[in-house]
Amino acid sequence: MSPMRIAVLGATGSIGGSTLDVIARHPDRYRASILAAHRNVDALAALCARFHPDLAIIADPALEGALVRRLAGLGARCEVASGATALERAAAGPLCDTVVAAIVGAAGLGSTLAAARTGKRLLLANKESAVCAGPLLRKALQEGGGLLVPVDSEHNALFQCLPGGRPVDLASVGVRRLILTASGGPFRGRSRAELAGVNPQQACAHPNWVMGRKISVDSATLMNKGLEVIEACVLFGAEPSQVDVLVHPQSLVHALVEYIDGAVLAELGHPDMRTALACALAWPERTESGVSFLDLASRGHLEFERPDTTTFRCLDLAYEVLRTGGDAPALLNAANEVAVEAFLAGSLPFLAIPDLIESVLAAMPAEPVADVGTLVHRDLTARAKARAMLARMCC
Ligand code: NAD
Ligand code: MG
Repeated sequence: MSPMRIAVLGATGSIGGSTLDVIARHPDRYRASILAAHRNVDALAALCARFHPDLAIIADPALEGALVRRLAGLGARCEVASGATALERAAAGPLCDTVVAAIVGAAGLGSTLAAARTGKRLLLANKESAVCAGPLLRKALQEGGGLLVPVDSEHNALFQCLPGGRPVDLASVGVRRLILTASGGPFRGRSRAELAGVNPQQACAHPNWVMGRKISVDSATLMNKGLEVIEACVLFGAEPSQVDVLVHPQSLVHALVEYIDGAVLAELGHPDMRTALACALAWPERTESGVSFLDLASRGHLEFERPDTTTFRCLDLAYEVLRTGGDAPALLNAANEVAVEAFLAGSLPFLAIPDLIESVLAAMPAEPVADVGTLVHRDLTARAKARAMLARMCC
């Protein structure tokens, strides 16, 4: 059998690196046929020299020439393309059977939807696209008829704990609740007063997971868990009231499914994304991931506690936009992306992140999700509003 051809979109990132690590362990089974990144020409070219894809895509069109020159310098031969439309075309095109959606932020939306529409196996790490375009993603998957396997560790865990991995109706299989665990991030247990002056370096120092900077800040604010609650509703057709969050500082239990007979199934493993990626690539088979095996006796104990939603307000904001419905989750996501960018740039205090998001939501009543064009326009409007508010807050 010829190897599965995989497009790794976001190849230079944390998830991209873990994906390529798993791919490299199984050269007979997998081949990275497309590699894509945003602006890091040197890192993308180095990956091309190592993995020999058919196509390399640099999302910033201004850097296409630089990529061509760098590849030539390394003696790496592959086609080169650039721009957001190249990402969508490649995700839907004939050079791959599987798409790993590992771009960060709403920038991953177009390629995620393109892969879903064409029935590719879609490994979804890019939670923001599920958050922004839930109804459109579900429709695209239905039309395309392909398989979406979640890569976000909690959703991958739910996928594994649900019968058949992909139920259409949670009630019909006796599911009562989906429970996502959260590490609590680097600031677990801190009061609002203690968080007033925290800086990006402190926020990105996650206790258990090594991740990109945006998701690290989201973990510190608990917005990551908020986005994941929305993602769970989209991917598994759950009602918001069926999705709960439990803080579990060890990050060994990734999620749990509670059934109506009182049984609770959980998935455990080291906090290493290669397990979820290996599972998603091979599903329904299993392959080695390079992750060490879990020795529970040596870990001693597992702790669980309720999230502190008074200090970390972002989680409640996510439930609120779910209740509002329409495009409110997309507006929340857009405002959050601007807020996190500003915090990372040192121009917004940590505690003001939920304030900015709340102000954008208050200024933009939700509208129904009509189509991608309208959604992108609303996303851009929310970003512009957030930036204008930011400018006023910072003056
Ligand atoms: P990262 O910042 O490490 O990498 C992001 C990747 O996306 C890079 O390759 C970058 O070049 C690319 N990219 C950024 N902007 C782009 C654009 N406009 N067009 C095309 N490519 C672009 O991020 P990450 O931690 O790997 O996270 C990627 C996604 O996976 C996020 O949605 C995150 O929420 C999700 N996720 C990550 C983890 C993790 O452990 N890192 C876990 C669960 C889910
Ligand atoms: Mg997660």
